[in-house]
Amino acid sequence: MFSLNPHSSGRHFLQIPGPTNVPDRVLRAIDQPTIDHRGPVFGALGLEVLAGIRQVFQTQGPVVIYPSSGTGAWEAALVNTLSPGDRVLMAETGHFASLWRKLAGRLGLEVDFLEGDWRHPADPVAIGARLAADAQHRIKAVCVVHNETSTGVTSDVAAVRAAIDRAAHPALLMVDTISSLGSIDYRHDEWGVDVTVAGSQKGLMLPPGLSFNAVSAKALAAADTARLPRSYWDWREMLGPNERGYFPYTPSTNLLYGLHEALAMLREEGLAQVYARHRRHGQATRLAVQAWGLELLSLDPAAHSPALTAVLMPPGHSADALRKAVLERYDMSLGQGLGKLADRVFRIGHLGHFNDLTLCGALAGVEMGLAAAGVPHRAGGMQAAMEFLKS
Ligand SMILES: *Cc1c(COP(=O)(O)O)cnc(C)c1O
Repeated sequence: MFSLNPHSSGRHFLQIPGPTNVPDRVLRAIDQPTIDHRGPVFGALGLEVLAGIRQVFQTQGPVVIYPSSGTGAWEAALVNTLSPGDRVLMAETGHFASLWRKLAGRLGLEVDFLEGDWRHPADPVAIGARLAADAQHRIKAVCVVHNETSTGVTSDVAAVRAAIDRAAHPALLMVDTISSLGSIDYRHDEWGVDVTVAGSQKGLMLPPGLSFNAVSAKALAAADTARLPRSYWDWREMLGPNERGYFPYTPSTNLLYGLHEALAMLREEGLAQVYARHRRHGQATRLAVQAWGLELLSLDPAAHSPALTAVLMPPGHSADALRKAVLERYDMSLGQGLGKLADRVFRIGHLGHFNDLTLCGALAGVEMGLAAAGVPHRAGGMQAAMEFLKS
């Protein structure tokens, strides 16, 4: 229908770091009649997905599900807990952290932006220092992107929590897990996160269109006094009907069928195995990049993302020209460079519904594309990944 190349046969390789490939099982689950969202059958579905999604956030608390993209859940996290003029501390990890910051500014919040070079994770020491200097507790929230999808760098949320605790600061901790939930180990309760923001179309293997807020008791209490205007995003409107599996307005019924199936798949594989699979594919991808003689954008080995890899182009070479060659010749989509990284990096998504041979196909496509686009490199990247996957 919307095929880029109507004459191509076989499956398109969607190897951007979200939206990711949707499993056939999930597509079939979505392909059911839409039902009465106020009727008796819907309540049972609602209760099951609201309970099931908590396991993925690793929380006992409530999770709110919105019919929106992840950006909506960013906004929901802020408007439910904060008041006009409140100060928030955000860490500049990359393009997505910068977009969240812009959104906060538009809402009338004062943002303290901890500068970063887009090649390292959020710095818990710098966050702790800012909080320690804030003796009057003017900072009301610390916001961090767990997996910065524009750079392939993962931040250490437990370390950020520890920094807040060391400073004995009462700020709320808010974390964007839009590209990590369901692909990278994440523990809302254990790490003391107050609001976790997520989306459907990345690690959760669903189409775009659902977003989430996992909410701590402290965040719920903040919602009682927060004064930013909110209506559509109001948690309190949601939580009442959610108790019986219902929603205050029309939910994305068919995406909830899909969520039900995706949760079953994650349960069957086991979250620990899901996370280990992503770590292994991340490592195999980095071995390929190294063998090609190309440079990873991520500079801190402890922070390399298990979900995607961003690769720097050699000077004078265009990432977009490479991506165009790969798309036209091999029918594969790679992630583009975002913001200041435009045309300088390409991103390989290795998250979601993905296995060893998907990775081999993706890496073969990149390697052949590098040759087609005349990008200087050594052959053997895919071979290096295969040797690792075999061992
Ligand atoms: C994709 C993404 C977003 C934006 O989500 P949308 O669904 O496009 O609104 C925000 N943050 C991160 C980390 C992402 O990966």
